[in-house]
Amino acid sequence: MRTRRDLMTGGAALVLAGLAKPALANVLQSPARTLSFENLHTGEKLNLEYWAGGQYVPQALTSINYLLRDYRSGEVHPIRPDLLDLLHVLHGQLGSAKPFEVISGYRSPGTNAKLHQRSNGVAAHSLHMDGMAIDIRLPDRQLAELHKAALAMRAGGVGYYPSLDFVHVDVGRVRRWGAVG
Ligand SMILES: [Zn+2]
Repeated sequence: MRTRRDLMTGGAALVLAGLAKPALANVLQSPARTLSFENLHTGEKLNLEYWAGGQYVPQALTSINYLLRDYRSGEVHPIRPDLLDLLHVLHGQLGSAKPFEVISGYRSPGTNAKLHQRSNGVAAHSLHMDGMAIDIRLPDRQLAELHKAALAMRAGGVGYYPSLDFVHVDVGRVRRWGAVG
């Protein structure tokens, strides 16, 4: 009979199998998962193990949530751990040695409404408001390369913004928009 722990482990493995191509499964099977970020608005940097010993590290998630807060309002919101896994795999696949540069993480409803008013490129209910989306670039990789790798994961939405120099990734439905790269 399977224990509760086995079932939970199996559930996580299924989620990850859905997220990653078979070749990437190894990346997620390593004993630790790391991420590094630089928030371009605040200058804050992080480089940490957010998953270790078979589970997410609560203190690490707290630090990440803070770094990815709405820098305009200061509001903090939990970032979905599966978005972090997506980023971890993406980073490994690209073989980057640099932190993700973050243009936008969490957006409060107030901030999103303002941005939506100003630009039709911002959805009225953006997944940024649910901690499910992030706008990023990698300083040691071409934006087109990052875009292509994100699309290949088929893990959620991918938006391409070459004129603004970032790629949007989220853990919503698989879809794409923006100029073809
Ligand atoms: Zn975005």
